[in-house]
Amino acid sequence: MPVLLITGGSRGIGAALAIAAAREGYDVALTYASDRASADAVVAKIAALGRTAVAIEADVAREADVVRAFAEVDRRFGSLDAVVINAGITGTFTRVDTLDVAMLERVLAVNVTGAFMTAREAVRRLSTAHGGRGGAIVVISSRAATLGSPGEYVHYAASKAAVDTLVRGLSKEIAREGVRVNGVQPGLIDTEIHARAGRPERVAQIAPNVPMGRAGTAEEVAQSVLWLLSPLASYVTGAILEVGGGR
Ligand code: NAP
Repeated sequence: MPVLLITGGSRGIGAALAIAAAREGYDVALTYASDRASADAVVAKIAALGRTAVAIEADVAREADVVRAFAEVDRRFGSLDAVVINAGITGTFTRVDTLDVAMLERVLAVNVTGAFMTAREAVRRLSTAHGGRGGAIVVISSRAATLGSPGEYVHYAASKAAVDTLVRGLSKEIAREGVRVNGVQPGLIDTEIHARAGRPERVAQIAPNVPMGRAGTAEEVAQSVLWLLSPLASYVTGAILEVGGGR
């Protein structure tokens, strides 16, 4: 069975992806930062589908945690086929002129450094240049990277622009090593991320301004990721797919 590692698979887009991937026949390793109960619930749902899942507590901003998470996947599954770099935070809502540097540094550590460290460990296992048998990587970016998110979180938008560049550069770097690397830019998606950043009303407020007139679901993002991971996307690498209802 193919094995998929998802960072931040306990809630939201990562959790929806973990369950959708299990339905497609993947065994799944998912990491989480602190919400063990949610991670365990995802593992139980996957077990009920007849697939194997393991939840690993690992802060993607900590190199030792990322290295340990991949080592745990090696130990539990013995192989790896796909990695989705999904764990991310927005930080607080603020204009740049009131930016708190500690908050900025945490957002960059999780969203950018975390993505790079996860990508490094993934390449070391998937790339044929490292003895791997190839595979696929998907990085979850955001429409914010393109829109800039003025008045909300330019710092978050900039962190996602950085991961878009990771996709563009890494995809070319390892294009002949059997690994495809793509990005997904979700638009407004109805998950807990907005409430956790202090704006529980954000989805209802912004949804009418989305061209399709509604927020997207985590499941809709998950399906686009599964397509990018699948052989149906065998000639797609370095792409950044917009999943934003026109936003
Ligand atoms: P969410 O519902 O808040 O879930 C975030 C997930 O990431 C949780 O599993 C969380 O673990 C994990 N996580 C957070 N910080 C972590 C860390 N330092 N180390 C490891 N795991 C960590 O968020 P979401 O809406 O699903 O967002 C997922 C991704 O999509 C993020 O990269 C986000 O930027 C991006 N995105 C979201 C939207 C949207 O509108 N929702 C739009 C565009 C892009 P715990 O459960 O332990 O906290």
